[in-house]
Amino acid sequence: MSYEKLPLDEFYKTIDELKPQFIQRLKKAIAIPSVSSDENLRPKVVDMAHFLVDELKALGAQDIQLKELGVQPPPVSNPNIKLPPIVLGRFGNDSNKKTILVYGHYDVQPAAKEDGWATEPFEMYHDKSKDILYGRGTTDDKGPVIGWLNVIEAHKKLNLELPVNLLVCFEGMEESGSLGLDELVAKEANEYFKNVDQVTISDNYWLGTTKPVLTYGLRGCNYYQIIIEGPGADLHSGIFGGIIAEPMTDLINVMSKLVDSQGKIQIPGVYDMVAPLTKEEDGLYDDIAFSVEELNAASGSKTSLHNNKKDILKHRWRFPSLSLHGIEGAFSGSGAKTVIPARVVGKFSIRTVPNIESGKLDQLVFDFITKEFEKLQSPNKFKVELIHDGNYWVSDPFNSAFQAASKATQDVWNVVPDFTREGGSIPITLTFEKELGVDVLLLPMGRGDDGAHSINEKLDISNYIQGCKTLGGFLHYYSKT
Ligand SMILES: [Zn+2]
Repeated sequence: MSYEKLPLDEFYKTIDELKPQFIQRLKKAIAIPSVSSDENLRPKVVDMAHFLVDELKALGAQDIQLKELGVQPPPVSNPNIKLPPIVLGRFGNDSNKKTILVYGHYDVQPAAKEDGWATEPFEMYHDKSKDILYGRGTTDDKGPVIGWLNVIEAHKKLNLELPVNLLVCFEGMEESGSLGLDELVAKEANEYFKNVDQVTISDNYWLGTTKPVLTYGLRGCNYYQIIIEGPGADLHSGIFGGIIAEPMTDLINVMSKLVDSQGKIQIPGVYDMVAPLTKEEDGLYDDIAFSVEELNAASGSKTSLHNNKKDILKHRWRFPSLSLHGIEGAFSGSGAKTVIPARVVGKFSIRTVPNIESGKLDQLVFDFITKEFEKLQSPNKFKVELIHDGNYWVSDPFNSAFQAASKATQDVWNVVPDFTREGGSIPITLTFEKELGVDVLLLPMGRGDDGAHSINEKLDISNYIQGCKTLGGFLHYYSKT
């Protein structure tokens, strides 16, 4: 650990002193059930936006704005339901300072005690024996959102000037597809977000449970469907079995050609687009705290396709994968129904990585599947199409923001963080990068076992408090770059 330490001890100490207040603030936020997918709870999502506005006001934010996004597009039960607003706020407007935009979301996944929670999901429970905070949103993403507010409070208490201009952008629809956010970011790129030098997102997690990470890459996702239809209605196999071409047989034939049981994609040309592994990148995997056992624990099985850490991580982060998800229209219940489905729709997706071009991938997929279907010489009708796509993202873990975050992490945790990627997607990352033309840093607060979308979601108090220190320390180290 060789870097020039900044004199931040007083700041870190102040965060420790404010711990009771910080826990209270998070508790208040958790108590608002801001579930974005539940139209009945939409007023609570809006309440949560106003809660944040009040907090921002009390902390002295300038130019606080609630950006209305209009009516939610279908499918909705209430055609007049409005999207929750995006909360914008600013601390400082000094042209001599760098400007950091922080993004977080104040909506949460649904949760109910009946789902199997040990405690009420919207009453934050502090387990004092383990020093863990339980509640929906503790780690995803209210903990980090409130964390940024805590950082400002600590500066105020110390009478310490913020080292950067800090803009906040908190959205209330992230768990429901971030409706309206892309448009808002594009619209504000040269307005509210003008002069932003860097975007920091704290909305993901450590890889494991012991070592902090900084995340520099995410895979994309292209989702496809294959539609095969034949008979005019579902038929009985006793009458029609053996004498008509069955759509399901065609579909299974085609789908079975896409990927082998070792997970290798069988569509020619896909791997040719994957960026070669450099020595530098290969080296990044060596120190990462992860093991086959951790994968087994996470999957609840011993079904790993790879027997070592590096291969697992590479296949999760930097190689594409193809998953077969399901078949719409197929008989899927228990029992032994002798139906011949008339129309089946096979669903699969490919997780994409550098340098796969989305459009080119689509063409490879369509060509391959069409050729495989033609081989069957089936009279059935066939179609393959893209349902949606989202690009991958990868940043430079050696750039100034990542290095500043690394120093802050070392200050706080006394360890060099792991530089990790993720197998999933956070689409907003790309939006900010593209619309604002700046680098994005993913700086997670919680641990890999926090159960973000699951029951008993939690945030360890050490992650919460040390996380606040890291967020704040990052601002200071970044201001010196
Ligand atoms: Zn989240």
